[in-house]
Amino acid sequence: MQDFPLTITSLFRHGRRIHADSEVITWTDDGPKMATFAEVGDRADQLAAALSKLGVAEGDRVGTFCWNNQRHLEAYLAVPCMGAVLHTLNIRLFPEQLAYVINHAEDKVVIVDASLVPLLAKVRHELETVEHYIVVGGDGDSGAALGDTLDYETLLAAEEPGFDYPEVSERAAAAMCYTSGTTGNPKGVAYSHRSTYLHSFGIASAQAMAFSQHDRLLLIVPMFHANAWGMPYAGWSVGADLVMPQQFLQAQPLAEIIEATRPTYSGAVPTVLNDILHNRPDADLSSLRQVVCGGSAVPRSLIEGFDETFGVPVVQAWGMTETSPLAAIAHVPRGTDPADAMSWRVRTGRPMPGVEIRICGEDGAVLPWDGQAQGEIEIRGPWITGSYYRDPTDEKFHDGWLRTGDVGTMEPNGFIQISDRAKDVIKSGGEWISSVDLENTLMSHPDVVEAAVVGVPDERWDERPLACVVAAQGRHPDPAELKAYLDGKVAKWWLPERWTTIEEVPKTSVGKFDKKVLRQRYADGELDVVET
Ligand code: ADP
Repeated sequence: MQDFPLTITSLFRHGRRIHADSEVITWTDDGPKMATFAEVGDRADQLAAALSKLGVAEGDRVGTFCWNNQRHLEAYLAVPCMGAVLHTLNIRLFPEQLAYVINHAEDKVVIVDASLVPLLAKVRHELETVEHYIVVGGDGDSGAALGDTLDYETLLAAEEPGFDYPEVSERAAAAMCYTSGTTGNPKGVAYSHRSTYLHSFGIASAQAMAFSQHDRLLLIVPMFHANAWGMPYAGWSVGADLVMPQQFLQAQPLAEIIEATRPTYSGAVPTVLNDILHNRPDADLSSLRQVVCGGSAVPRSLIEGFDETFGVPVVQAWGMTETSPLAAIAHVPRGTDPADAMSWRVRTGRPMPGVEIRICGEDGAVLPWDGQAQGEIEIRGPWITGSYYRDPTDEKFHDGWLRTGDVGTMEPNGFIQISDRAKDVIKSGGEWISSVDLENTLMSHPDVVEAAVVGVPDERWDERPLACVVAAQGRHPDPAELKAYLDGKVAKWWLPERWTTIEEVPKTSVGKFDKKVLRQRYADGELDVVET
């Protein structure tokens, strides 16, 4: 066989040529703006030419500080294919983390949406390596807060399509993304051309999201968070239209975008889907054949709510920045009685073809797949990171496997069930209580919209669960009643005896429950705790 390199350049050529008419639709204040793959391909050439003139060479990092939009996709294509490395910057990072990741990655150029200039400008004086800022959109003056800037469209207008892309090695870095760093500094993960290529085929396959030219993908997951779960490259490769919602990510505009553009597929974290379910239950989502949901445990109430309210199946998936990100997906195993389907759909998922998963005990021993043994999930495969960028720590790796920091069990058929993140586990009397199970069950109660359960110190048991609940609109959840509701649904010794009602669950920059903050608030005596 030919030793043909697996590069994004090859996917790029394929999409622009074979699916020249497929569309990229960006939502703007003035409604949708459409461009074909052929047009986007030409503009990516112009961007590559402009970046080369600015001195961007092979291996240089180019940052993007952008919403999901057509220009961001142009950078996704141009930067890796010219041999440089696309560094997608999370616009929700705290300023000190943002400055840290730009300096750590040594970004040479940053492409920034005009509307996001003020956020980036906050750290401008701390950035040590950035030579040029390229501002997308705005009125010419929009970049002023960053000092001397270049205008994206002016740069492109000076170039012709038809850039001469170099032959890059499939093992060269194509893109990078930093984890959100809930503890310590963010850690960089570099994706190679090869890993991206294989991940794209993996997620497009029928055993994952089954993408084809007949699809239209709505990219709700930010392109700065684990590559929008791989949808831009996978969609481009098969010629699926890409709908880009920019900053319009609340229930109301999302429902409007879905009704107007009629996407067939989308993906989002539970918080976003919950928002649509609770605030736009009347929306017409019937164009969606499936929605993939992950990033944190997907509550049963959400899956059932989407089934009943919209007739749209939600499929749970699991992954992390380090795993490109898709690692497992919860398709119902064949032969399942339809009456039992939900018992699989609420679980975390089965490994994607191509990745291998195991669980290990605290002593490092590999544990059986019996649905009982609980340990840390470890993973290996061609799109799983083998190290962190410029970071010598290797405690995250175990004999060539990545330690995910997630704790759970595996069924004999390979289904994973995550019970907690290792740093959030609640250990009561030496035994683990699953906060994920408690939260899911609480969130199925009509008085509760969100619930986070954290471990707090306890004299007798070392740790006990504290349930923090957010009331549904107009409701007043009663701890005694909630406890009675949990009784019989989870083990008796899991039932929390400490309860508090909070306005909202604190979230990290990528929208996950930030339990560290809740534990701290409890320690500082800031929470009004009721004992049951
Ligand atoms: P971070 O930067 O916070 O690590 P990631 O997006 O990489 O951001 O987060 C990955 C983590 O998200 C996983 O390790 C896991 O804890 C959590 N996660 C993702 N999907 C699921 C899921 N379906 N169920 C439970 N937890 C999930």
